[in-house]
Amino acid sequence: MVIYSHSRLTTFEQCPLKFKFRYINKLQPDFKQTIEAFLGTKVHKTLEWIYRQISQNIVLELDDILNNYIYSWNKDFNNQIKIIKKEFNAEHYFNKGIKFLIDYFLENKPFNDNTIAIEKKILVNLDSEGKYILQGYIDRLVHNKETNIFEIHDYKTNGFLKTQEELDKDRQLALYSIGIKNTFENIKDIHLIWHFLAFNEKRISKRTPEQLEKLKQEIIQLIDKIESTKEFFPNPSALCKWCEFRSHCPIFASGSPLLE
Ligand code: SF4
Repeated sequence: MVIYSHSRLTTFEQCPLKFKFRYINKLQPDFKQTIEAFLGTKVHKTLEWIYRQISQNIVLELDDILNNYIYSWNKDFNNQIKIIKKEFNAEHYFNKGIKFLIDYFLENKPFNDNTIAIEKKILVNLDSEGKYILQGYIDRLVHNKETNIFEIHDYKTNGFLKTQEELDKDRQLALYSIGIKNTFENIKDIHLIWHFLAFNEKRISKRTPEQLEKLKQEIIQLIDKIESTKEFFPNPSALCKWCEFRSHCPIFASGSPLLE
């Protein structure tokens, strides 16, 4: 039995051939990490560090947070990290991270919202027989003791701000909320919360039990579709620029009009 992740599902939907290269053929990628992914990891790690410090009653100033990010960036940055957008250099992305963290600090200090878990692994049973299981990691889980509401927090470092309508249909945090419901008892409600760091915006959504039941069925159907797929076709899009398997892809083979 394959345990699915949300990114496994979205990779299939984005491009079945990329899914095959990554999860079936397990090909060596052309590069290990893009600068966008590196920035995302570094900002996530610093936000994780903030809440670990807070859990030990350590008071943080802005300089502490920025120093953690700067140290972590400098320690791990290397010239294997791929910069796709040639008009920008590494410093541009580094500075973005600084801005995200300054904004987050000003909006969220002193960070005492009763965070109960960071990078929490969650298993989501989609059916009663345990045939369909999804695994994920919640960036941060908060329990508001007064209201008995749980909050699933997710940080976004990309340049896309989703509309409320899109968030109300978003699958990832909704799926994680199923796992939370099965883990804790007597939950009053669960809020799904996104921090769009590039816009300094926080957005909230909720799901009804009926919506979650429908979502489970949709994901089961998607998994069935993936598992019955015999031919994995390429699905070229703007995202091909960031694809780590372009050197293997027939769409970008020598002589293709799409080759850049
Ligand atoms: S380059 Fe584009 S079409 Fe080819 S595998 Fe990657 S995402 Fe799919």
